[in-house]
Amino acid sequence: LGLHLSYDQRYFDETTVQGMLGEFKRLLLALVQGFHGDMADLPLIGEQEREFLVDGCNQSGHEYPLERSYVELFEEQVARHPQRIAASCLDQQWSYAELNRRSNRLGHALIAAGVGLDQPVALLAERNLDLLGMIIGSFKAGAGYLPLDPGLPSQRLSRIIDLSRTPLLVCTEACLEQAAVLLEEFACGARPKLLVWEELMGSEENPGIYSAPDNLAYVIYTSGSTGLPKGVMVEQRGMLNNQLSKVPYLNLGQDDVIAQTASQSFDISVWQFLAAPLFGARVDIVPNTLAHDPQGLLAHVQAQGITVLESVPSLIQGMLAQDRISLEGLRWMLPTGEAMPPELAHQWLLRYPEIGLVNAYGPAECSDDVAFFRVDLASTRGTYLPIGTPTDNNRLYLLDGALELVPQGAVGELCVAGTGVGRGYVSDPLRTAQAFVPNPFGADRLYRTGDLARRRSDGVLEYVGRIDHQVKIRGYRIELGEIEARLHEQPEVRDAAVGVQEGVNGKHLVGYLVATDAQLNPGERLDRIKQRLRAELPEYMVPLHWLWLDRLPLNANGKLDRKALPALEIGQLQSQDYLAPRNELEQTLAGIWAEVLKVERVGVQDNFFELGGHSLLATQIASRVQKTLQRDVPLRAMFECSTVEELAGYIDGLAANEISAEKVDRLSDLMAELEGL
Ligand code: AMP
Ligand code: MG
Repeated sequence: LGLHLSYDQRYFDETTVQGMLGEFKRLLLALVQGFHGDMADLPLIGEQEREFLVDGCNQSGHEYPLERSYVELFEEQVARHPQRIAASCLDQQWSYAELNRRSNRLGHALIAAGVGLDQPVALLAERNLDLLGMIIGSFKAGAGYLPLDPGLPSQRLSRIIDLSRTPLLVCTEACLEQAAVLLEEFACGARPKLLVWEELMGSEENPGIYSAPDNLAYVIYTSGSTGLPKGVMVEQRGMLNNQLSKVPYLNLGQDDVIAQTASQSFDISVWQFLAAPLFGARVDIVPNTLAHDPQGLLAHVQAQGITVLESVPSLIQGMLAQDRISLEGLRWMLPTGEAMPPELAHQWLLRYPEIGLVNAYGPAECSDDVAFFRVDLASTRGTYLPIGTPTDNNRLYLLDGALELVPQGAVGELCVAGTGVGRGYVSDPLRTAQAFVPNPFGADRLYRTGDLARRRSDGVLEYVGRIDHQVKIRGYRIELGEIEARLHEQPEVRDAAVGVQEGVNGKHLVGYLVATDAQLNPGERLDRIKQRLRAELPEYMVPLHWLWLDRLPLNANGKLDRKALPALEIGQLQSQDYLAPRNELEQTLAGIWAEVLKVERVGVQDNFFELGGHSLLATQIASRVQKTLQRDVPLRAMFECSTVEELAGYIDGLAANEISAEKVDRLSDLMAELEGL
C-alpha cells in the first residue's frame, strides 16, 4: 500500500500520528483479510493501547482514612492543638477549640431537632467564620449541608429550599430577615424549621456522632438545562478524598494558610473551607469585596500570609493586568472552573516563576477535582492548557457515544470513575441515570461529564470543549437552556435563545428574543423581561445584551441553529451621543474606564454595562480610582453609578455627605439592579 499522509502539526504530535498510523494499518489489514461485518464493529484499538488507556493512565490508587468521617479527623486535630488558629476572617480568628465548641453547639441543636444522617441542613450566611462553624456543625449531627448564598435572588433560594426538601434552615442574625421571607413561601406543614446561629446554647462537648463514608456530605445546586436548578449530592467519602488528596500533591502542612474565596454555592468552596482544619493548618475566609478585586486580593494574600490560592482564570487575568505585587508567602496558585488560556498561564509563570501553577479540573458531580496538571512553560505553547492526569483514587476515560474507548489522540467525552463520583441529583432519578452510568471498565459507576477532551501520547489530557450547551462565564456554570426556559415563560416573548459572545472583557451572554406582539415598545418590553429574570436568576445568568429578531434561525431539522445567531457588534452599542468629559475629575474617570473596559473613548453618559462591564471590572476600576485620586472611594460606588457622570457626582458628594453604613444595601442586589439598566 503506497500511502502518502500529511497532517497538521499544530494538532498532532509525532507519537500521536505514529499511533494513528498503527490503527489505520490494523483497520486496513482487517479489511484485506475479508471483514464483512458492520464497520462499527471493527476493532479500533489494539490490546496494548487499550491497556494503556484503561489502566496505564489511571494508576491513581492511594490510601486515605476515608472510612473515618470528617468530624473524627477534625476532632483529632482539636485534641492535638486546641489553641492553634484554625480559621481567620479579616480581623477575627478562631482557634481549633473555639471552632469545635461552636460547631458542637449546632450539632447538639440539630440532633435535638431530629436532624441527622443523609439530610441536608440549609445554611444561610455570608462567607465568614460563622458559616464555617455551621458547616462543621451540620457534620457534627451526622448530617450534610446545603449552602445558600444570601446574594442570590430570593425566588431562586426558595426554589432550592423547596427542591432540596431540607428539614431545617440555619441562619445568622444578619440573615434572619431574609430567612423569614424565604420560609414564608412554604405552607406551615412543609416549612423547614429555623435555627439562628447566635441564639444556640447548650452543650459544647463533642456529640459523638460520626457519619459513614457513604452518608451525604453536601448538596450543591447548579444550573439545569431543563429550566430548574439541579442539586448535586456528594458523599463524605468523595469529599474527604478530594481534600486529603491535595495534601501530598501540594505538600501541605500545618504552616499553610488556604484562602477561602469562592461563593459557598460553588463546589470549589468546600475544600477551601474544610481542608485546612484536617491537618492543623489555617483557612482564611476572604469576603467578596476583596475576593472579587484582583489587586485587593493579592495585597490581602501577602498581608495574611496565604500560601494556597485558587481562582478562576478571569480573575487571574485581572491580577496580571497591573504592576507586580510581591507574594513571598504564596506557594501555589490553582486556576480552576474553566479553561485557562495558555497565554495567561505563560504570563503568570513569567511573573511568578517561584509560585507553583496547578490547573485543577473537575465537575461538582465528582466531589470537585478529578484532574491536576502542574503547569510549566513548555506546556503553555499549545492550543489548550492540559488538565493533566487523574487525582488520587479517580480514573478518567475518553469515550464515544456508545461508551467505547476512543483511540489515542482522538477527542472523546471525558468520563470519571472512582471515589470522587457523587451520589446523583436530588429527587431526579431520570437525570441521575442518564449522567451516572455503570462503568464498562469496573464494578463502580461512571459519570459522563459532557466535556470533550483528548489524550496526549504521554497520557496527559487536554480539555477541548463541551458536547452540549453548558457554558462557563467567569467560572460560573450556566446551562443556556435554563435561561431560555425562563424567557419562554415571559408573555412578551414568543421565542427565545441565549448565546455566548467573546468580547474584549471576556465572555458574556446575549439574549435573542422574538416578540409576541411587535406593536409594543421594545424598550419597555425588555425592561419588564429583565426585571423578572433578575428576580429569578443569579446576576451572571442574566444576559448583558439583547437583540429582537423576527424569527430565530433554524437548521434543516427545524431546530434552533445556534451558530446562525447573529453576532452583536458591541462597539455599536456605545452611546450615539458622545458627551466629552467636562472637568478634570470626569476626564480622569473616563480615562480609567476606557483603559479597564478596553474601549477607545468613554463619554460621560455611556453606560458601564453596555460598554461590556461586569463585577470583576468594576472592582478593578475601583482600585484604580482609589490609587489615582488618592481617596477612599467605596467599592459600592462603582455599582451604584453606571456612568462617569454619576460616579464623578458621587465622588464630589463624598466629602460633603458621609454615607451611613446602614444605607449600604447588599452589593449584589445593587449589582443585579444595575446590570439591568
Ligand atoms: P463545576 O461543576 O462548576 O465545577 O463545573 C465543572 C465544569 O467546568 C467542567 O465540566 C468543565 O466544563 C469546566 N472546568 C472546570 N475546571 C476546568 C479546567 N481546569 N479547564 C477547563 N474546564 C474546566
Ligand atoms: Mg469543579
